Amino acid sequence: MSAKIIDGKAIAAELREELSRELEGLKAAGARPGIATLMVGEDFGAGMYRSAVEKFCGEMGLGYRNESLSADTGEEAVVAAVRSLNEDPGVSGILPLRPFPAHVSDSAVINSISVDKDVDCFHPFNMGRLTLGEPTFPPATPSACIELLERHLRAEGKDVTDALEGAEVCVVGHSNIVGKPLALLFLNRNATTTVAHVYTSNRGNLAKHTSVADILVVAAGVPQLIGPDVVKEGAVILDVGINRVVVCPECGALNRSKKNPCRKCGADLAEAETKTVGDVDYERVSGKASAITPVPGGVGAVTNMMLARNTLRAARAQLEG
Ligand code: NAD
Repeated sequence: MSAKIIDGKAIAAELREELSRELEGLKAAGARPGIATLMVGEDFGAGMYRSAVEKFCGEMGLGYRNESLSADTGEEAVVAAVRSLNEDPGVSGILPLRPFPAHVSDSAVINSISVDKDVDCFHPFNMGRLTLGEPTFPPATPSACIELLERHLRAEGKDVTDALEGAEVCVVGHSNIVGKPLALLFLNRNATTTVAHVYTSNRGNLAKHTSVADILVVAAGVPQLIGPDVVKEGAVILDVGINRVVVCPECGALNRSKKNPCRKCGADLAEAETKTVGDVDYERVSGKASAITPVPGGVGAVTNMMLARNTLRAARAQLEG
């Protein structure tokens, strides 16, 4: 079997068209949909994400406000900045970019975001709604997984409700931003949902769960965690992982750093190439799965569109009062 590639870039382009039409309609009705990012201090990853959101807002025609505070800003001042974003009519959605400095607690910031502007579902109220099966703003990355899966099922001529009810789903990873909310989205669709994580692996039980899954989603941040031996024949695989790796020029093994010799053959990696891979051994698992998302060009490509969708939803609700 050679897996069908679930093309995140193509699905993102479709979504962009759909959302652009919706955005025009909202603007014509007087709304000013926009996103604000909140950063405290300098962090490379958060800074990259901030720039990506700004660029994406520009391309989509969404408003953008950059709230970047210095690392020595006190917690009260950070909360005051959030409250000012809550009041800004040009900000429909607020995206806190972590990590924050140690003296600023995540919960103080997140709890002060208006639940009506919490477009990536960080606030306990919105997580609670998600748990109850009444999501207001389902978080972007888990939603991207569901969107890719549902569009794939429809393209295969399947009824989405039927295909998911009682399906064996395994989510690998139990973080608050990906694994847990994604498991809830599957439960809300009546799938038989198993969540595996690092402690599952530590007990040697990962394969037991992944190898019976009709739908396997991997969000662990571990390159090549999932090989063909632990995947069910014909499974649909969604790979959320994003890992920057160094490829050994001698044996092809993936390494984390150029500084150390290759972990497999000991070759020097100083001049080795780097590339981005997911958590799934894409080439080999493609021979066994029925469908698979690539990395890059899979889940990540659709994530921003889900953020835009939630922002438009927020802007519409704010317009309607
Ligand atoms: P995290 O570090 O918060 O959580 C990792 C999870 O994986 C944990 O639940 C941990 O228990 C589990 N895990 C780690 N090693 C494991 C192992 N050996 N076996 C089984 N489970 C294991 O990470 P996160 O924020 O949830 O992100 C996970 C991955 O998804 C990362 O690679 C991240 O870069 C990527 N990501 C992608 C997007 C996107 O839009 N595509 C968005 C967010 C995160």
